[in-house]
Amino acid sequence: MFENKVVLITGAAGGIGIAAAKAFAKEGAKLALVDLKRESLEKAAATVDAKDILLLTANVSVENEVKEYVQKTQEHYGQIDVFINNAGINGEFKNITEQTEENFNNVFGVNVMGAFFGLKYVLQIMKEQKSGAVVNTASNGGLLGAPGMSAYVASKHAVIGLNKSAALEMAEYGVRVNAVAPSGVNTEMMRRIEKNAMGDQAEEARKAFEASVPMNRYATAEEIADLMVFLSSEKASFISGSYYRIDGGQGAT
Ligand code: NAD
Repeated sequence: MFENKVVLITGAAGGIGIAAAKAFAKEGAKLALVDLKRESLEKAAATVDAKDILLLTANVSVENEVKEYVQKTQEHYGQIDVFINNAGINGEFKNITEQTEENFNNVFGVNVMGAFFGLKYVLQIMKEQKSGAVVNTASNGGLLGAPGMSAYVASKHAVIGLNKSAALEMAEYGVRVNAVAPSGVNTEMMRRIEKNAMGDQAEEARKAFEASVPMNRYATAEEIADLMVFLSSEKASFISGSYYRIDGGQGAT
């Protein structure tokens, strides 16, 4: 489905990012993978069988670094067809009464400003091309509350807002913008959240979190990647400005 298409993915050394890289590569895509550190990017990229892979290090919360990773992708491939705007952090686990400005700023810096900067520069290219598809990684935390995770929850609600405005602004250029809203996904982020919530009883936290999902388990990163591939494909040609729960039924409770 993505023969001769260029797919740019942020947070590409992480669980969902690398699963997305593999899923798009399987469909014939050329990849540009962005993450904080060269070493972890190289390790992750070594597991991907793609025609062409460009590795780029950037901190997505710094506007100039985002501008640069977008420019380098455009210089290397001459086009950007799909943007998986995915890098994110969960931040510290604290109730609002103990919440800190620093944690809020850190989480918003990556999850909101990082997503915004990515949209700002990638959409300039897609607008010019008059084609393209974006998938923003939101969360069920972008739709629901979660005790102890106000910074993350507020940041992912902001991503849903960015997603809607970007879709409206880009519709006339034939560029589609959608979001995925997963509940718990079996990645390193979930391990951090379990530890933050329950310390050395992280295994108990995992069981409790999984039990709160009607399907009684976390998603796999591959399940999220499959939804990203669908939303980026021609099969989703009339879908824009939407967000998709992928949560084993949790949103229906
Ligand atoms: P992960 O921790 O495995 O991967 C996140 C990746 O983002 C890491 O490789 C990390 O280095 C990178 N990253 C973090 N800050 C960055 C920055 N400033 N600049 C560049 N890269 C940066 O987590 P994941 O589960 O793969 O998460 C991917 C996305 O999915 C995130 O936006 C997350 O909020 C979202 N999400 C995850 C879950 C879950 O349960 N795992 C659920 C819903 C949404």
